Amino acid sequence: MSPRTLAVSDRLQDYLLEIGLREHPELRRLRQRTDAMPDGGMRSSAEQAQLLAFLIELIGARSVLEIGCFTGYGTLAMALALPADGRVVTLDVNAHWADIGREYWRAAGVEERIELRLGTALESLDGLLAEGAAGSFDLAYIDADKKGYDAYYERALALVRSGGVVALDNVLWRGEVANPDNHDHQTLALRELNAKIHADPRVTPVLLPIGDGLTLTRRR
Ligand code: CA
Repeated sequence: MSPRTLAVSDRLQDYLLEIGLREHPELRRLRQRTDAMPDGGMRSSAEQAQLLAFLIELIGARSVLEIGCFTGYGTLAMALALPADGRVVTLDVNAHWADIGREYWRAAGVEERIELRLGTALESLDGLLAEGAAGSFDLAYIDADKKGYDAYYERALALVRSGGVVALDNVLWRGEVANPDNHDHQTLALRELNAKIHADPRVTPVLLPIGDGLTLTRRR
């Protein structure tokens, strides 16, 4: 144990990926394909995806909700961690990106576990609630537009069961949440939500400095 989180050098990051990461071959191919795209930086980090997959195994999750599919890298990592009858409901506004992921979902043999819902995240989440899905998910992973995070968090909390997990990506926002001079809308939204979760009696939270910052909350 050390009292502070270490700074990760490029060399250590390479080591983490080489020794720390155990990645399905199709997951690796999808990661490389995504990184070659202009928007590739929106992909979840490999370490985060591995952690989410670990959590899915740990809590015996069967039903996962993903808010923000992008090219489906996190989607595939989570689908691979589920049992054969498990399912990931993944939300996005853009079918083009998910179509890229679908090739790899199919090649990995888990396409049947993944249901893509197109539309705005709020519409899709409210649709799930209207279908009676409240309390039916074991884990929800939020990685979409940052200004919508608070609304997604509230709906995700309603959709996961007691003891389930709501995870939020990019909560450190390249460190900008701690920069008092930064008042842009996305930074403000994340800073306010981080403070809200810190004091939220409905959950047990932990904020991990992994990737761009990942908060895990366990719904009480
Ligand atoms: Ca992200």
